[in-house]
This record gives sequence, C-alpha cells and structure tokens, in this order.
Amino acid sequence: MKKTVYFFGVGKADGNEKMKELLGGKGANLAEMVGHKDLRLPVPPGFTITTEVCTYYYKNKGKYPAGLKEAVEKAVRRIEILMGKGFGDPQDPLLVSVRSGARRSMPGMMETVLNIGLTTKTIPGLIKHSGGNERFVYDAYRRLIMMYSDVVMEKAAGIEPAEDSGIRKQLDRVMDNMKREKGCKSDTDLTSDELKKLCVMFKAKVKEVLGREFPDNHKEQLWGGIGAVFASWNGKRAVSYRRIESIPDDWGTAVSVQAMVFGNMGNDSATGVAFTRNPGNGENNFYGEYLANAQGEDVVAGIRTPAPINEYSKSEHNRTLVTLEKLMPKIYRELFDYQKRLDRHYRDMQDIEFTIERGKLYMLQCRTGKRNGTAAVRMAVEMHREKLITQEEMIMRVTPSQLDELLHPVIDPKAELSRKPLAKGLPAGPGGASGQVVFRAKDAVEWSRQGKKVILAREETNPEDVEGMRAAEAILTARGGMTSHAALVARGWGKCCIVGAGSLHIDAGKKEINTGSKVIKEGDWITLNGTKGVVYEGRLPMTEALEANKNLIEFLRYCDSVRKLGVRTNADTPEDAAKARQFGAEGIGLFRTEHMFYGKGSEEPLFILRKMIVSKTEDERRKALKELFPYIKKDIKGTLAAMDGFPVVIRLLDPPLHEFVPRDEAKLMQLAKDLNISLGELKNRADDLHESNPMMGHRGVRLGVTYQEVSEVQIRAICEAAAELIREGKKPYPEIMIPVVSDVKELSDQQAIFKKVYEEVLAKYKMKSIRHMFGTMIEIPRACIVSDKVAEVAEFFSFGTNDLTQMGFGFSRDDIGSFLPDYIRKGILKEDPFQTIDQEGISELIKISIERGRKTRKNLEIGICGEHGGDPRSIEFCHNVGMDYVSCSPFRVPIARLAAAQAKIKNSGNKKQGNV
Ligand code: PEP
Ligand code: MG
Repeated sequence: MKKTVYFFGVGKADGNEKMKELLGGKGANLAEMVGHKDLRLPVPPGFTITTEVCTYYYKNKGKYPAGLKEAVEKAVRRIEILMGKGFGDPQDPLLVSVRSGARRSMPGMMETVLNIGLTTKTIPGLIKHSGGNERFVYDAYRRLIMMYSDVVMEKAAGIEPAEDSGIRKQLDRVMDNMKREKGCKSDTDLTSDELKKLCVMFKAKVKEVLGREFPDNHKEQLWGGIGAVFASWNGKRAVSYRRIESIPDDWGTAVSVQAMVFGNMGNDSATGVAFTRNPGNGENNFYGEYLANAQGEDVVAGIRTPAPINEYSKSEHNRTLVTLEKLMPKIYRELFDYQKRLDRHYRDMQDIEFTIERGKLYMLQCRTGKRNGTAAVRMAVEMHREKLITQEEMIMRVTPSQLDELLHPVIDPKAELSRKPLAKGLPAGPGGASGQVVFRAKDAVEWSRQGKKVILAREETNPEDVEGMRAAEAILTARGGMTSHAALVARGWGKCCIVGAGSLHIDAGKKEINTGSKVIKEGDWITLNGTKGVVYEGRLPMTEALEANKNLIEFLRYCDSVRKLGVRTNADTPEDAAKARQFGAEGIGLFRTEHMFYGKGSEEPLFILRKMIVSKTEDERRKALKELFPYIKKDIKGTLAAMDGFPVVIRLLDPPLHEFVPRDEAKLMQLAKDLNISLGELKNRADDLHESNPMMGHRGVRLGVTYQEVSEVQIRAICEAAAELIREGKKPYPEIMIPVVSDVKELSDQQAIFKKVYEEVLAKYKMKSIRHMFGTMIEIPRACIVSDKVAEVAEFFSFGTNDLTQMGFGFSRDDIGSFLPDYIRKGILKEDPFQTIDQEGISELIKISIERGRKTRKNLEIGICGEHGGDPRSIEFCHNVGMDYVSCSPFRVPIARLAAAQAKIKNSGNKKQGNV
C-alpha cells in the first residue's frame, strides 16, 4: 500500500489543499494552513490517515493495511517531539483528537472523539501541567467518557439501543441528576470534586450498560477512535446524508489525529467558529461566535448561547454578551489577520474553527463555508469586483439551486405586520415557510410522504434528524446558534430555518411547544420567517416576488454576457408575460392558447370554448368561434404587447377535447340551453368526444385538420392583434406554432390556412407585411426522423420534450408516478426522464431532428419548450446540441440564464456536439 499517513506540524506538511480526495477536506486544509508559505498558521500538529485506508478497511472486513500501525506510531512520536509531551506519559501527557473528514464536508454526519490519552495514569500529569486545574482535567475526562462510550463502544460496536436508552442519553441523565442535586444551572457550575465523582459514576454506568470497562490505556483509546471514525462512514445518518447529497459511497473518509489544545483551561481560554464573510447575507465582514472557557463541541451543540466575536456579529439573541474583540483584543486582531489571509488565499469564504488556550490562538480547521443563495450571489459578485476571481469563476460559484432559493417565497409583509410573533430566534435559513408542526424526524418524513407540509421542531439540533430536516418545509429549534448543526445543514440546502428560539419549550415527548402562555400541539400550523428569525402561530400568506436584489441583477447580467442560448418563457397571459420580462425572459417560447381559458375571473370564455367543442355542425362551431374571437385576440394582443419587440411563440389549440367538457350537471344544462339542444343530446355529443387514449387522440394539428375554421379563427386573432399593435407603434413578433405534428403534409395543410388569412388581414389593415414565423413543435418521434421534410415548411422547431419523452418511452406522462419509484429502485432508470432529458434515447431523437432539420433549412430556429427547458442539466444539453433558446416557466428564467452561462463556460473548447 502507498503512503497511508500524512503529517502536518509547525510550518511543514506532507499534503496540501489539492489532495482532498486522499486526505479529505479537513486533512487537506489542515496541511495547507500549516504548509503554504502565505499561511503558516498556528495549527496544532497532527497527521491524516488517508481515505484509501478507509476503502481498504471496508474491502477487508475492518482490517487495516500492513504498515499502518508503524506509520501511526511514527507520526505520534513526531507530535510528541513538537509538543514536548508524551502520549501516555504520566508526567506530561499529550492528548489527541480523532476526527473524520470526507472529500466534501458532511457537517455533523460522522464521528469525532476528543481528549484521547486521558487515563488514570495520565490524569495527575495533566493536572500538574494545567497549573493544578483539577476541574479542567476531570471535565475533559468526563467528556472523553461520554464521547468515547457513545461513539466507539456503542455506535461503532453496532449496538442499537432503544430510543432514549443509548449510553450518551444515560450519562446525560446521570449528569443532569447531579446538577439538580447540587443546584447547578450549567455544566460549568460543577466543582472539581463533583466532576471527579461524576467520572467514577460514568465509568460504572458504562460498565453496567455496555458490559465493558472503559479503556484505561491511551493506545487502545487511539485505535478505538480511529476505527470508530471509519465505522461512522457507514453510519445511518452519514449514509442518509450521502443519498441526499449524491455523494458516492466509495469515497470513504480520512481520519485526522491532532494534538489537543484546550479552550476550557480557564477564563483566558476560549473556542469559536467563524466565517470570513457573513454566510447569511454575503457581506464582506468577519462573522462568528465564541464561548469562553469551553471546548469546541459546546459551540456547535448549542448547550450554551455563544457570544459574538465582534460588534458586527451581534444579534437580538446575543446582544448583551461581551465580544471577543473586547475580551481579548490582541488575540482578536491576530484572528482577524488569519481569517483575511484565508479568505484571500482560498479566494472564497472560509468557515473556520479556532481555540484559545491560555492566551494563545490556534487554528483548528478551515473549509469553504456553506452559504445561502443571497450570500452566494453577493460573495461571487464582490469577489469578482475585488479581483479575487475571474468572471467565469464568479458564474460557476453560484449553483442553480442557490438561485432558486433566492426566488423562494417570503411571508407577505403586510400580513406579517398585523401578527404578533410567537417567538424569536436566530435567522439561520432564509425565506418564509408554513407547515404543520411535527416533533420527530420520522414523522416529518412520514407526514410529508402523505403530501402534508410540515415544520420540524426540536429542542436542540441533532444530526440524526437529517432525513426529517430534508422532508420538512422548515426547521425550528429552541437551542443552538448560527453555527449549530441545524443551521449549517439548512443553509447548505437553502431551507428556511430558525434556531435558538430560546423562549420556546419544545417537548418531543409530549409533542408540544410551550411558549409559557400558549401551547402548540402536533399538527398545528405555524409560519416561520427564516430571514428575520420570527415564529408565528397559524398560516400566513406568502408572496413570490423576486426582491430587487442589485447583486442578483448584476450577476445575471454577467451570465447574459457569457451565454449563447437565448432564454424565453412559457406564459399564457399578459400578466405572466410581464412578470417573465422582469425575470429577464427574451420572449415567449410557448403560449398555450387553451390555458388562457382557465383561472380567469369570468367563466364566459371557457363557456364559449365548451360550446365550440361540443358543436356538431360547422355552422354551430363558426357561431361559437365568432363569439370566442374577441377573447382570444385580446389576450394575444396583451401578451404580444408585454413582449414588445421579442418573439412570442403562439401555439394553436392543443387540448384533448374531453378535458373541456363540463362534468357537473348544472353547467351541462346551461350549455344545452345555449345550444338549443336537449341535455340527452349534449350528453351524447360529450360521449362521442370520449377517447381511449386522449393523449394520442384528436388533439393538436389533428383538430385543425378536421376543423379548418378552428385554426382559421386563431390565426386571424394573432394576425389582427399584431396588425393593431403595429398601428399603435409597437413591434409585435408572433411565431405561429402547430402542435403534435408527425408529417410535413399536416403542416402544409395548416400553412395554406395561414397564408389565406394572413393576406386577408394585410388587406384589411392595408399593410405590406407583419413580421412573423410559421413553425412546428417537434414532440412525436416520427417528426424527429422526418425533420428534413418537416423543415421544408417549418421555419422553426420547438421541442416539446414532455410529449417527446412520453411518446419516445411510451410512458404516460400523467401516470409515471405509479412505476417510476420501482424503476429507480431497480436501477432501470437513473432519474425521472420527465425532469432531465433522457441522455441515451430522447437526446438522440433530438440530435437527429436538429441535424436533419438544419440540413434542409440552414437558419432553422430551434428551441425547447417542454419542462426540461428549466432544468439545468437539460439546458447544458440544449447548449451542446446547438439550440437557439430554451423556454421555461417565469420563475425559472433566472436559473436558466445562469445554467446557460455555466453550460457555455463548462463546454467552451468542447468541439464534440451533443455531450450532456
Ligand atoms: C410538450 O409536450 O413538451 C409541450 C410543451 O406541450 P404540452 O406540455 O402542452 O403537451
Ligand atoms: Mg405537447
């Protein structure tokens, strides 16, 4: 086996930041902080065991590769020399921490054991070297027992205790009892004698519960810790997290062993977590929390409320606490300098952990910090302005889902003003969310499976809850700070989250939240404002407006300057069109004519449409169409006006007809009356419209082929609307699109109608021409194959990938839910082909169609209007196959602008077309 152990310490390191695959993120960054000439930060010495050892360990049933033992022993000796202490030395003992570290950070998902090396033999030596601080030593010892028995002796040994009877919980109870007996409020109130007694009680409890003595040998502790970290890679929560984040199982974790330094050696000691920029809003300000006289886990566990490191980090919650800047000004300045160097060096926001041991600062960790969408955009834009990153790097820094999060709903500000808050906490994840309260992760998963919106409420943060957190709309905790586990995870996901709402008593046992004056029970609705950290009772309305975010506007402009693909929107009303313009849409890629009949205040147009559909004779139909004409023209005109100067693809009617036949008796009666026929006759007509396979029935172009007048009226409405707008000084640009085409002759049939109507409208308005195009959707596999012929008539193609996927796979787009989960579980399909374009089959159909279409017509305009037009990976495909534009719903337009720019950057220099 290759080198298994990489050492770092005092200005020298075997590894560096680029070795994340081998050393894990944590190990690689520790090496970088120590070894890089621009950094050389004070990091306690240590070593990292590679991820290859982890992979080996799993392949060989928990065995280590030959030579590992010697390599570890050698590295421990090097730490001993640098620290001037001995591992297991009764005079001056060295203690170490054992931590996990995968390639990508998985906050709180794997194990850590601290204070390894404390035994009955070394305790007196540590007391001596801590200046006789017995309290500190026994506190460290009780932490070791708690962590080690839980992580190594229970979890890694595969023991699965019933809920609440795990060793950690049992030890917590022993400690709580003692605190109650002694009248202590906080852990720090326990005296050294009490802690000493507690350690004896802990060891007895461990023996009683786990049936084994707590190991009193430093080497046994070290190897126990290393094994437990490897074992935690396959622990339940790590596995769940990997599934959600798509992290491969075979990456494995590295293990970093590092000399312990102590933030709990008295009031000149402290520990903290900080960010080089604010991860909540992206401001370029040092931001963080610390606790005096504490160990690192106290900050993240949320047991005590951490204090702000500086004025900037103050919040409602910690306003009154003294800042690190005030308490230890010299050390704060040193820390400030280090974080600036890290921010510059990594050219990205870093999340750092530090410890101050008796007035000396140590850096324990740094990694690229998780951030929400608002912060991601701001940091990217500002770092580009600061000349830290290139334009391309800036664009690649923001993920489409972070942008999505920016466009997420917020509570309607007016509604919020009128409400009294139930509680306040820390704003850990932005946006607004309403949901029914649940108290256990399990229930969050279960309820959301039933289609309910839930908010997961917990007393404190707990990494075991990761699946429930994912399933919930939002997360609420009573304890914990901005850097607590819940806050980190929620921020990474862009989920609405409030932590540390201290006035709430969240009781998972009783399934209730008690505010002191009110009780909220399981299933009750609450609403969170995650941007401000405010909790409300009940369900508040949300607004979906894109905030006027200057950074976002600037960022998207950069994207626009890079991308090649145009971005249009699918909109069916003038209002949606106007909204999409604000989001940056450069036209409409799909106006579904039939959609304009839905959701209108008035039922009138829908009623007339129904009349048209159930008409028996051409006369009846023409009469209904005449009534319908002004409605169609009005909406089309409004939409063309909203998109003034930009193209608007208007698709002629494409509904399976039976969808429009009313079901309720009263409406049927009214319809019969208006048509002057009996109810029985109407029912017969409706029955005649019934089809066995409506998706493949009398729809799309087939309607226009049978009922020429239906196409005629729509085309006239489009042409007249455009003519009127031209008279008003506007620049309408309609593209008339024929759906569900499988043969060029269908298209010629409709083109003849178009030509006739177009000439008539020109004559009526005394015009020479109206700018327009005549084209087709490509959504039937046959149309792809005969695209060379289709392009003889069509001036543009728009891929209807919803139907193309439906008909290409033969999967009903409305019924895939019944079998897709089995297909995914069995690995027959990797993902839902209705979300991301199938990269083997449907993509080939599209490529064939583009190639053949452009062979006939070089300047054939090509776009996509199926749902895939808003999916970043599909957008990359569209870029690679040389489409002109994508079209998606208004809210996804900014995401498509980003995805199109990223596709261009990722694939520049990629000559081969069609790679996804
Ligand atoms: C399509 O089929 O992809 C499409 C956009 O049309 P519709 O969803 O209206 O069938
Ligand atoms: Mg379709």
